[in-house]
Amino acid sequence: MQMDEAKQLRAEWAAKGSPPCDHPQLLKEYYLGTQTGDKVCTTCGEDFSEAEWRAMQGRPARS
Ligand SMILES: [Zn+2]
Repeated sequence: MQMDEAKQLRAEWAAKGSPPCDHPQLLKEYYLGTQTGDKVCTTCGEDFSEAEWRAMQGRPARS
């Protein structure tokens, strides 16, 4: 998902009063065709760093 789309989703979600979201689907975030390394919720547009989304999936990021 493009960063602009995520920004739009966040604005729409905020317009709904920012209800709770359990972030059912995350997509890779792109900016100008390049992956940012973050993922974006397709429902609310919230973005997550790799460490955050790995933790959400129950797989802690370890180097
Ligand atoms: Zn969400």
